[in-house]
Amino acid sequence: MSLRDSLGRVATDLRVSLTDRCNLRCSYCMPAEGLAWLPREEILTDDEVVRLVRIAVTRLGVNEVRLTGGEPTVRPRLVDIVARLADLRPRPQLSMTTNGTSLVRMAPALRAAGLDRVNVSLDTLRNDRYLALTHRDRLGDAQAGLAAAAATGMAPVKVNAVLVRGVNDDEAASLLRWCLQRGYFLRFIEQMPLDPQHSWDRGAMVTGAEILARLRSEFTLSLLPGRGSAPAELFTVDGGWGTVGVIGSVTAPFCAACDRVRLTADGQVRSCLFAREETDLRTPMRAGADDAQLAALWARAVRGKRAGHGIDGPAFVQPARPMSAIGG
Ligand code: SAM
Ligand code: SF4
Repeated sequence: MSLRDSLGRVATDLRVSLTDRCNLRCSYCMPAEGLAWLPREEILTDDEVVRLVRIAVTRLGVNEVRLTGGEPTVRPRLVDIVARLADLRPRPQLSMTTNGTSLVRMAPALRAAGLDRVNVSLDTLRNDRYLALTHRDRLGDAQAGLAAAAATGMAPVKVNAVLVRGVNDDEAASLLRWCLQRGYFLRFIEQMPLDPQHSWDRGAMVTGAEILARLRSEFTLSLLPGRGSAPAELFTVDGGWGTVGVIGSVTAPFCAACDRVRLTADGQVRSCLFAREETDLRTPMRAGADDAQLAALWARAVRGKRAGHGIDGPAFVQPARPMSAIGG
């Protein structure tokens, strides 16, 4: 069985949210006061996470597992979860998206447990702006976390940046220079309507085209062919080894080639970030469903995946859960 939808797309890349909690409060993701967290009893246990990923890997063709959240490093026993996932056969590629603030402490153990790669989110190089964007004074920790991840040999080390108009939209070139100097691969992500305040404004969004124009004023960018299912358009920089990516989730959606499926921290399958439907695996699992039954439910959930997110359409409705609760 594979996770094939009615349009023939096959999901092989599973994003697993380990928690909806976070130690930062990025304005486009979470309100400053935090959110009503999921009740503990609704969060999948370690055994349940490992079981569902095992089903995905052994029965449903998933070959890449990305841990996310919320902030995955605030999940208790994260290193142990990574080790158990790395023991699965066939062994999936294991990566994690993190704000990086805990990597100085955790990167060596995560690497030893089997984590292959990290993406670290970093939107600014200025302390005052980091504080304004995340409501926490942790820029130094995030930067040191990146260095710690690179020092373990995890490769490539990627950096995700969201530009917010009037806050950090003048930092595209400086972020790229900083990443190139350190061997990190930078990707800009257009801000999407997934903020809990529902204050996203299409007109105010910094577009991929705008980001490229800002970069081109300082660098020579050449488009790399062969985007495949990767969401980022990739460019070489000044003819060197480095690349920069722009993920135009809103203005250049990659839905037609999407190979992703998501599992929320409370055990719901989502076929898309913007899906308004979820398929509950936790309740049947706790009621005694066997692996074959859970795999069949999962496959059915993906079959109904929509053609696209429709952000630009008149009928678009923002999903009820914000990004931090879906798993970015
Ligand atoms: N806490 C981790 C982190 O920040 O990397 C993992 C979860 S976070 C939700 C995953 C990614 O989603 C981050 O790179 C973050 O910048 C991005 N993100 C969050 N809200 C977003 C939004 N409204 N639009 C675009 N990207 C967003
Ligand atoms: Fe936390 Fe990541 Fe959301 Fe920022 S983007 S609030 S670090 S979950």
